[in-house]
Amino acid sequence: MTKTRTYLDYNASAPLLAEARAAAIAALDGANPSSVHSEGRAARQIVDRARRSVAALAGAAAEHVTFTSGATEAAATLLTPDWRMGRSALRFSKLYVCEADHACTLSGGRFASGDVVRFGVDANGVADLARLESLLAGHDRDAGLPLVAVHAANNETGVIQPVHEIARLVKAAGGVLIVDAVQFAGRFSLDITNGCGDFLILSAHKIGGPKGAGAFVGRSNLMMPALLIPGGGQEMGHRAGTENLSGIAGFGVAADLAADRLDAMDAVRTLRDRAEAAVLARFQGAIIHGKNAARLANTSLFTIPGLKAETALIAFDLAGIAVSSGSACSSGRVGPSHVLEAMGVDSGEGAVRLSIGPETTEADIGRFEAVLADLAARRGGRPKAA
Ligand code: PLP
Repeated sequence: MTKTRTYLDYNASAPLLAEARAAAIAALDGANPSSVHSEGRAARQIVDRARRSVAALAGAAAEHVTFTSGATEAAATLLTPDWRMGRSALRFSKLYVCEADHACTLSGGRFASGDVVRFGVDANGVADLARLESLLAGHDRDAGLPLVAVHAANNETGVIQPVHEIARLVKAAGGVLIVDAVQFAGRFSLDITNGCGDFLILSAHKIGGPKGAGAFVGRSNLMMPALLIPGGGQEMGHRAGTENLSGIAGFGVAADLAADRLDAMDAVRTLRDRAEAAVLARFQGAIIHGKNAARLANTSLFTIPGLKAETALIAFDLAGIAVSSGSACSSGRVGPSHVLEAMGVDSGEGAVRLSIGPETTEADIGRFEAVLADLAARRGGRPKAA
C-alpha cells in the first residue's frame, strides 16, 4: 500500500495503523508469555494490556476475551455442537446461520452440514426475522439447543443486521447467539452487555491491527465451546498454543484507537456518499446494493449495467486505485457474490465494492471519480452531467 496508490478496500483489510505497527514490532522481541522469568512476565503484561483494550472495545470483561489467529478461527471454535456450562455438557443440535454471513460462519464450523440451517435476507440484505422466528419455533429442544450465528454488518454491502431483535428471538427460544462483529467494530460502539448476543467475533486487521490476530469475546466464561486447539492450556485453557505476541500487541493498540476513530465516521459517510453520487451521475441505471437499509458509513457496493465488475476493477487498479469486486476467494479469483445471490440480485456484471476509512481524503475520492469519468467516456455510455 504505497503512497502512490489510493487504497479504497478497508473491508478487506484496513491499513495498518502506525501505532499498531510500532507495538507489533516492539513485541516481536518478546519472550514466551507463559514463562515465569522476568522476560516472560513482561510478555504476559503485553498480552494482558491488549486483552483489556480488546475487552473495552467490546464492552466486556478482560477475562472474557480469548485471542485467536483471527475471526475465522474464532468462528470455527464457537460453531460447535459441543459446549460446557460449568462442569456440565451442553449440546446444540442445530446451527442457524444467515445466508449473507461471511464464509467463516456460513461454513458451519464443526457442525455436520445436515445440522446447519440457513435463514435468508430480504432484497436490502436484512436478515429475515420472521423466517428465523419460525425456524426457532420449530426447533426440537429435546435434541439439543439452537445455536445462531449472524454478522452485525455485511462485509460486501455494509448492511447492518438487527442484532438486538435477533438476540431477543434467540433468547426466547432458549438458544445462544454468536455475532460476527468483524466489520461493525470500530465503526459503531459495541457493548456485549447490551443485548447484542452471547459471543462476539473480532478481527484485528479490520480495525487497523495486524493480520492473523482476532478474538472471541463472551458475556461470561461460564459457557464455553469444546476446544478447537487443545494443548498447553494458554488463553485460560480456551485456546492452546503460544500466543501471537506481536499480533496481539498490535490488536490491542488498534482496539484502543478504534474508539477515537468512531468520531471520524460522519466525515467517512460524506466521502462515501460523494463517491456514490458520482457513480449514479455517471452511469444511468447504476445500482447501489442495500442502499435502502441501514449501512456502515464506509461501504458502497454498486453495479454498473453493462460493465463487468472485473473490468472496472482492473481499470481502477491500473489507475492506481484499489477497490474490490464481488467476493474474492483465497486464490484471488473473483466469484459470484453469495451476498447478492441471497438478496435475489441477478447481476451478471457483478459488483464493485468501495470501502474507506478515516484516512481517506477528498483527493482519494476525486481520483475515484476521475476513473469513473474515464470509464464512462471509454464505453461511450450515457454520462449524465457530472
Ligand atoms: N467476518 C467478516 C464479516 C469478515 O469480513 C471477515 C474477513 O473478511 C472475516 C469474518 C474473517 O476474518 P479473518 O480474516 O480475521 O479470519
